[in-house]
Amino acid sequence: MRKAILSIAILGVLFSAQLSAQTDTSGREKVYRATHTKVTELKHTKLKVNFDYQKEQMNGEEWLTASPYFYPANELILDAKAMLIHEVALDNNGKKSPLKYEYNNDILKIALDKTYQKNQDYTVYIKYTSRPNEVKQQGSMAINDAKGLYFINAQGTEPDMPTQIWTQGETESSSAWFPTIDKPNQKTTQEIYMTVPDRYVTLSNGVLKNSQKESNGLRTDHWVMDKRHSTYLFFMGVGEYAIVKDKWKNIPVDYYIEKEFEPYAKQIYGNTPEMIDFFSKKMNYDYPWAKYAQISGRNYVSGAMENTTATLHGSDILQKPGQLIDENKWEDTIAHELFHHWFGDLVTAESWSNLTVNESFANYSEYLWNEHKYGKDQADYHLMTDVNMYIHNPSDFKKNLVRFNYESREDVFDLVTYQKGGGILNMLRNYLGDDAFFAGMNDYLKTNEYQNAEAHQLRLSFEKVSGKDLNWFFNQWYFGNGNPKINSSFTFEPVKKQVSVTISQTQDQPFEFPLAIDVYDNGKPKRYNVWVNAQAKNTFSFDVSKTPDLVNINADGVLLAEIADTKTPEQNLMQFTGSKEFKSRYRALEGIKDQTGKSPAVVKLLAAALKDPFFRVRIKALELIDLTHAEQMKALSSEVEKIAANDPKTLTQAAAIAALAKTKDKKYLPLFEKGVNAVSNAVKGNSLSAVLAIDPSKANSLADKIDLEGASDELQAQLLPVIVKNKVTSQMSNIAPLAAFYPFIKFQNPELGKSAEEGFNWIMSSDNLKATESITKIVGYAKNQMGDNPQAKMMVVQMLKDGLSKKMELLKQNPQKAASINKQIDVLNKAIENFK
Ligand SMILES: [Zn+2]
Repeated sequence: MRKAILSIAILGVLFSAQLSAQTDTSGREKVYRATHTKVTELKHTKLKVNFDYQKEQMNGEEWLTASPYFYPANELILDAKAMLIHEVALDNNGKKSPLKYEYNNDILKIALDKTYQKNQDYTVYIKYTSRPNEVKQQGSMAINDAKGLYFINAQGTEPDMPTQIWTQGETESSSAWFPTIDKPNQKTTQEIYMTVPDRYVTLSNGVLKNSQKESNGLRTDHWVMDKRHSTYLFFMGVGEYAIVKDKWKNIPVDYYIEKEFEPYAKQIYGNTPEMIDFFSKKMNYDYPWAKYAQISGRNYVSGAMENTTATLHGSDILQKPGQLIDENKWEDTIAHELFHHWFGDLVTAESWSNLTVNESFANYSEYLWNEHKYGKDQADYHLMTDVNMYIHNPSDFKKNLVRFNYESREDVFDLVTYQKGGGILNMLRNYLGDDAFFAGMNDYLKTNEYQNAEAHQLRLSFEKVSGKDLNWFFNQWYFGNGNPKINSSFTFEPVKKQVSVTISQTQDQPFEFPLAIDVYDNGKPKRYNVWVNAQAKNTFSFDVSKTPDLVNINADGVLLAEIADTKTPEQNLMQFTGSKEFKSRYRALEGIKDQTGKSPAVVKLLAAALKDPFFRVRIKALELIDLTHAEQMKALSSEVEKIAANDPKTLTQAAAIAALAKTKDKKYLPLFEKGVNAVSNAVKGNSLSAVLAIDPSKANSLADKIDLEGASDELQAQLLPVIVKNKVTSQMSNIAPLAAFYPFIKFQNPELGKSAEEGFNWIMSSDNLKATESITKIVGYAKNQMGDNPQAKMMVVQMLKDGLSKKMELLKQNPQKAASINKQIDVLNKAIENFK
């Protein structure tokens, strides 16, 4: 699964959850999440279902084949959430004999006809009604709800919303639509007969074996999955989609896409076959399933989900050329969910405590794909962004990667399991070397295929392949918490002609790790790879001719650590020009943030960065450049102009336009006006802001041109003030994601916060259901990210209440619009209730 990362991710610190305690498996601690005991072994699940769109229910029949796991047993205990159970029987080759059962508290306890032995199979028949709207269960930060089965616009009453059905099993919600043992350590083969209106297509796991027209405009599709997979990976999707066909070798690769987006299907999804090929080769393990399909669902409760052979994406994946030319912002997610088809679906975490064996790998696959497709700089940039998210959420420092003491199983879907976990795998890869790392992954897959595993199985595979003991690594990074926090200093010893570099770790528990240090002697770097022992201070001596110009710690950027250093502009310049690795270049550039205008070295560094081969470095430089400084204008403006007109990346062009806009110089007006008509959303957006900075009267005629739906946070932040100030109604709902968080934004960026507040009030004083719903929806997502932060929750509730009273006032003024406004009042009331 991949979470929907909201624009409010930047506010993570405000939402930070409570600290969790150390892992203790002794049983002395209150909470220990043991792996679910296997009493029963599921073998095969056969379902026949049809849908009641009016009641939002599903009628189901199930034939469940199972046997005792090890010890003899005379009962079968199943999870079945909020169902009506009509009939339970033993099915003996089609002959049904009733079985006694009890159904209480979402548990279906079936008394079998006799005691069965290990591997003695039986088939139980269950007739039931699934009622997802009756399910009572808390959602999570990753998933906002836990209904399992979702009817979207089932009665067709919402305009602009297609009618769809999709399911979400992870973590334990499949039992909301079929009785099962809803634990990741149960695997079964599967077949589903889905009867649906003939105008809809269906998607499920495995292959479509048969499709049969029925009376009354219905059709029954028979999907068969002949390889075992965990019950949380079961999937059904129903709706109006175009199916765009692609393939890898002989394996069908299908894109189920809403018809409006069909022309862009290949732009959005088209790298999938190359990804399958790349991952298959990298791990020396071919994609193991019969097909691969991807579909998107409206109102999806998470980012995306790796249902075996049938990945479900949130509708944010649907992008148009204006967004795609800048960046397919969903490509990492496409790689992530695909990679789960090895790490997650083929070998599955045996319990949520061990989720890292699914999610850290899926996260790291984003690195692997970026490295393969776009180069190591892009991969390193992606990793740095991820690890920074973890580092900036201090409560995560206390959490072990493998955790047996979580409050809610949904808590494990966090920055530690995903983003930090990916960084940990990158360290392991660098320590072992590529050959051993990928061979270790292969061994883990081969050894555990179609089964479950925990982190120890990973360790054993990497140890087996490399011959190295890895307890030290796993104890620190998997079964321990935190990361090194490093200070460093150096002294030159003129007699010995040596420099002593002292590495101090300031966190409580020292780590041991390999570390790359660049020592700059006469302006030239020399790389030293040292081993830092698990103690507060380590000192290393290196030969030098004089006092080093610079000592750069973690020069290759591999170590996941917080490193305190302050460098002079001259040192930053030296580091930038002397470093091959992305992170050292980027850090050098970040280092001059508060040094602009203070030294000629700064201008030199910026000039060098503008010519960097990696566009993210050029963008960073453009963000730092201030062309209102005379020296910078003189030295850099012609290069910035060139980039604005011709850079191969539109995101870079856009950043250059923003840099030029700061001058408010009318000579750039033609360039900006041309930019307003560009295909790229980023170029358009920044050009628009630039034009308006010079000539505000053009606001209304221009702001309509931008498709802000799905635009980047930066672009939204940039255009929000323009849209609010000029009341560009067509863009109202697009500012909701920022407007909904104005009380928090005010802390970080008072000016933007004020505009966002005006935007919020504007929405609340307008008769606009879509914009109002955008607010309540995004606030709903955020609720789970706030953890136990009563103050943040209170702020949101207060904000919503203010909004509510504005809508009431609006209703009073406009009684003729009561129907529409009352709907918005309902939505707000519901959101407030939801927050209590
Ligand atoms: Zn995932």
